[in-house]
Amino acid sequence: MPRIAVGAFQHETNTFAPTRASFAHFERGGGWPGLTRGGKIFDTVAGMNIPITGFIDAARPLGWELVPLTYAQASPSAQVTDDAFERIAGMLIEDLKGARGIDALFLDLHGAAVIESHEDGEGELLRRIRALIGPELPLVASLDLHANVTPEMMAHADLLVSYRTYPHVDMAETGARAALLLDRLLKAKRKPAKAFRQLPFLIPGVWQCTLVDPAQAIYGSLEPRERDPILSLSFNAGFAPADIFHSAPSVLAYGWDEAATERAAETLARDIAAAEPDFRGKVWDPREAVRHAMRASDGRPVVLADTQDNPGAGTDSDTVGILEALTAERAENAAMGLVADAEAARIAHQAGEGAEIAVKLGGKSDGRPFAGTFKVVKTTDGRFTATGPFYGGSRMELGPMARLAIGGVDVVVASKKVQAADQAMFRHVGIEPAQKRVLVLKSSVHFRADFQPIAAEVLVVAAPGANPIDHTTLPYKRLRPGIRLMPMGPEFRP
Ligand SMILES: [Zn+2]
Repeated sequence: MPRIAVGAFQHETNTFAPTRASFAHFERGGGWPGLTRGGKIFDTVAGMNIPITGFIDAARPLGWELVPLTYAQASPSAQVTDDAFERIAGMLIEDLKGARGIDALFLDLHGAAVIESHEDGEGELLRRIRALIGPELPLVASLDLHANVTPEMMAHADLLVSYRTYPHVDMAETGARAALLLDRLLKAKRKPAKAFRQLPFLIPGVWQCTLVDPAQAIYGSLEPRERDPILSLSFNAGFAPADIFHSAPSVLAYGWDEAATERAAETLARDIAAAEPDFRGKVWDPREAVRHAMRASDGRPVVLADTQDNPGAGTDSDTVGILEALTAERAENAAMGLVADAEAARIAHQAGEGAEIAVKLGGKSDGRPFAGTFKVVKTTDGRFTATGPFYGGSRMELGPMARLAIGGVDVVVASKKVQAADQAMFRHVGIEPAQKRVLVLKSSVHFRADFQPIAAEVLVVAAPGANPIDHTTLPYKRLRPGIRLMPMGPEFRP
C-alpha cells in the first residue's frame, strides 16, 4: 500500500497591501481552518472545497495510506513574515522527517506567496523539501489559478496542477485531479516531461472570471487538449498585485513525450496571447453605479463588486467609498458587506440591539473612515457555516459581528476580514440578500458563484482599496522588464 504524505501551505500575497501575515494569522486561519498538524487534519478539513480535502477523498478508493503533515493557510495580505514562514516550513520539514518510508508527497499550495526574505515563497519551500526528500521521490502539488509560477517551482515539483475556475468552485476537484495524476506517475514509475511558458502581460483579477470569455473558452479548452501523451495542462492567470520578478500568467504542461509537451505548452500560450485584447470590461464610478443600480433593480438585487478592496486579493476589507456613494445617493433597501472593523463591532455589541451609535466606520487601512450615526439592528457571534458553491462547508469564525443601519443602507460589520462571497454572511445577521435592491460585495469574482444567480445585474466598481484594477497605478519595481502592466497596456521599465 503506497504511503503518501500530505500537507498544505497557502498564502496569496499582495505586496502592495497594508498588513503582513504573521504566525498568528496562520494560527487562526480565516475563511478556512487555522494551523493544524497530524491526524487532526482529516476531521478539520472534511467536507470543504479545498484541494487537500479533494486529495484525501480521492486517495481512499486508491487504497493509499495517507501520512498527514502540517496544514497552514492565512487570509491573503501583504508579505508573510520570515518568522511565520520559517516556523511553518520548519513544521513541514520536521513532519516529513518523522514520516518514514513514504512513497510520494502531495502539497496543497497557492503559488503566489511572497515571504519577507524570499519573493518566491513556494519555490523556496519546494527547494527545502526537495533537498530533504531527494531527487527521486514523486512530489505533486496543486496550485491556485492565481499562482505566479516560477522556474524554481517547476524544477522542484514533478507535477503542478492548477484550478480551472474563477470563482474557484473546483478547489477540491483539483486536489482529486492531483491524486489521479500522482497515481499515474506511481504506476508508470517514471517522471513526466515538463514545459513552462510565461505570458507577456498582467491580467487584472476581475477580468479573469471563467464564467465569461476569454477565460471561459481558454479554461474549457484544457481538458480536450490533454490527449496522450499529454498528462496535464494548466493555465495560471496570475496574481498581478505582486511586485516580484515572476509575477505573470503562465502555462504548465506535463506529458510522457518531451517534444509533444513543449508543443502543447507553446500552442496554449499562443492561444492565450491571441486573446490579450479581450481581457477587459466596464468599470463603474461608485455614484454612477449606485444610481444605475437603483434604476435597474427589477426586484432582484443589482450587485456592485467592490473589487479594489477585495480581501481575497490581500486588502483589509474596510474602505467605505461605496458606502459614501450609497448615502449620498440616498439608496434604499441596500446592503454592503463585509466591512472588517473589530472596534465598530465591539461598540455595537456594548450598545446593544436597537441602540444608536456614532462611530467612524472602517477606513483604518486608508485613513478615510465613514463618520456617521448608525442604528444597531443586530449583533451576532460571527459563527456560522457557509452554504454557497465557493466557501460551502467552511465554518466561519469572524468574531463579533453587527448589522448597522444608516438611512436605507445596512452595513454588515465583522471583526475579522473574509471575502464577501457567500450569502450566509448576510443571513447570519438577518439579511436575505435576494430581497435587497442593491448589494455591495467586497469581492472581485468569487461572489459570482453564489450571488450571480440571484442578481439582476453585476457592476464592477472602482472605489478605494489596495487591489487596483488598473495596474499602471501601482509602483512596481521588481517585475520582469518588458512585461505589459495591463492587457495591451504599457510595458514595465525599471
Ligand atoms: Zn485564487
